[in-house]
Amino acid sequence: MNTKAKRLSSPIFRARVRGDWHELLAASIRTAAALAAQLPLEASAIAPVAARYPLCINPYFLKLIRSPGDPIWRQAVPDVRELEADGMVSDPLDEKRQSPVPGLTHRYPDRVLLTVSNRCAVYCRHCLRKRMVGDPAQALHPAALRDALDYIRRHRAVREVILSGGDPLLLEDEALDRVLGSLRAIAHVQVVRLHTRAPCTLPQRVTPGLVRMLRRHHPLHMVLQFNHPLEITAQAGVACHRLAQAGIPLGCQTVLLRGVNDDPQVMADLMRALLRLRVKPYYLHHADPVCGTAHFRTAIDTGLRIMARLRLDPGGMAAPCYVADLPGGGGKTVLDPGGVERL
Ligand SMILES: *Cc1c(COP(=O)(O)O)cnc(C)c1O
Ligand code: SF4
Repeated sequence: MNTKAKRLSSPIFRARVRGDWHELLAASIRTAAALAAQLPLEASAIAPVAARYPLCINPYFLKLIRSPGDPIWRQAVPDVRELEADGMVSDPLDEKRQSPVPGLTHRYPDRVLLTVSNRCAVYCRHCLRKRMVGDPAQALHPAALRDALDYIRRHRAVREVILSGGDPLLLEDEALDRVLGSLRAIAHVQVVRLHTRAPCTLPQRVTPGLVRMLRRHHPLHMVLQFNHPLEITAQAGVACHRLAQAGIPLGCQTVLLRGVNDDPQVMADLMRALLRLRVKPYYLHHADPVCGTAHFRTAIDTGLRIMARLRLDPGGMAAPCYVADLPGGGGKTVLDPGGVERL
């Protein structure tokens, strides 16, 4: 702990945390040895985990860790349990089978999911797509992006395109501007949605320049991911404020994670904090049966209890929709019949 406390308060570290997003990303911790120099853990214990699933924690998110095993730590620091043979599969939603062209998943008739980046500002240990994020071999090639755009052009039923990843905000402004411009040029694409965790894991990414660019592509929606009240910092507040001021409706998908937020009070605090940032809780995801994430899964009952609390306090605006993805690409299913005990 001493080493950690010393490093986190050193002037170099503080300067990095205030730095611009490129600098913060460049200063990210990507090896077990580098992480062991910052946090009280054994490099040899987590090195095999980091070899299997990529490790990336930028200095901003690292600094949110307060103590070993806290909710931020659990989401970002590799855990030996990721290597347990847990009987789960790497792609339970069968995104590959529903992918007519690389990088594009077409599960619902009127909307498609387009993974434009496979990089993130932090590699979440609970990630649904941990089979592919961070792997340079799986990055979307420009030719594949052209094919995906062609596919959308040819399919007039597609009214909404969801840019996902990885994290689309890891693209440079100009690259994202080009993708959004291409989508906007397709008459039947009515709405574009961006799924991103950057406002939470690297809020410095939401620069005035980014926001000026995004607002040229309305109607644009954004769905963020916050999982714990400790993530609602002043910087995250600034990021959400800038996006909301640009007229971008903001939603949040929270993942229900054991040891992180599987508690009604924590969730109530989180939802209240989100509403103050003008972020509407959208989904509460029951953790999918993804290989390497079994230690995060809770009983469905836990989620139902949390939902019952949220609907009463803080109330309807704060209550997301509790969903699970059906295995094999069946799509999202609502787990919570809603409000029965109250009505
Ligand atoms: C979740 C998801 C969507 C979006 O679903 P919404 O309910 O509209 O948020 C679209 N396509 C795929 C493949 C998805 O997994
Ligand atoms: S930001 Fe999203 S895609 Fe990236 S590692 Fe986290 S959960 Fe996965």
